Amino acid sequence: MDRNRIIFGHPLPTMLHYQSIQEAETSFGRNLTVAEKLWFSYSANQPDYLLHCHNILFLILFYTIFTLPFMVVELCGSKNIGKYKLQPNIKRSFSDMFKCYKAVVYSFILAVGPLQVLSYPTIKWIGIRTGLPLPSGWEIFWQMLVYFLIEDYTNYWTHRLLHSKWAYENIHHIHHEYTAPIAFAASYAHWAEILILGVPSFLGPAIVPGHIITYWSWFVMRHLEAIETHCGYDFKWSPTKLIPFYGGAEYHDYHHYVGGQSQCNFASVFTYCDYIYGTDKGYRYRKSILKKQL
Ligand SMILES: [Zn+2]
Ligand SMILES: [Zn+2]
Repeated sequence: MDRNRIIFGHPLPTMLHYQSIQEAETSFGRNLTVAEKLWFSYSANQPDYLLHCHNILFLILFYTIFTLPFMVVELCGSKNIGKYKLQPNIKRSFSDMFKCYKAVVYSFILAVGPLQVLSYPTIKWIGIRTGLPLPSGWEIFWQMLVYFLIEDYTNYWTHRLLHSKWAYENIHHIHHEYTAPIAFAASYAHWAEILILGVPSFLGPAIVPGHIITYWSWFVMRHLEAIETHCGYDFKWSPTKLIPFYGGAEYHDYHHYVGGQSQCNFASVFTYCDYIYGTDKGYRYRKSILKKQL
């Protein structure tokens, strides 16, 4: 397949391409890794446009996979796990959760899907690469860290704006229908909010572009993180507890618990923005009261 053909008036990739694994190995002066061979076999005959559109499939696939264990936990009602529930008086039925799931998948298909299709040229403009060599583990790690920091800061201010009177009443109130959030509600929001919050997520890759595998992984990780922070359970043994300044489920649950008037805990991932800008005072005061009662 000629990968330099024109789609939407933009030439498909301009980076170096190889006709075969041998050609790539000769060019690099080394053998390709197993992962690189697999990537070559998978991507060599696919236009970058299709690789870009994998994002919407991953979004739906991982949203379905990551939320399922939380549904099982909620329906089982096990005491061992129930003790970690943040708002134990609220129980969700299967139909409650499925209704939320359907609403989110519709918004992915009707809002995010068309945006994905139309936004293809942007990944070319910002310089996301699709060819060989693949990024190293360290490159992926550092780029993802930068993406999380950029997203966290810009999402903080966007979320604060969504709590202004007009934006809350017209857009953000839908996300706050869940005063006791569930994993499925991570992306339960007005379609406009889903698109608006896509901007902070896109900024990291736009500023520090990497390989499309890093790009896919970033959106999957960000989504996984949002599912965890909305899951309604604060598992003490969660590996995310080891991440410095990580907010987590308890932190964001408080934002939903306080509800529409919430001017507290706006950050999506870390806690330092709320600390610096003084929007975690209510949360910290409540924690100190609860600590004294123990
Ligand atoms: Zn909010
Ligand atoms: Zn939320």
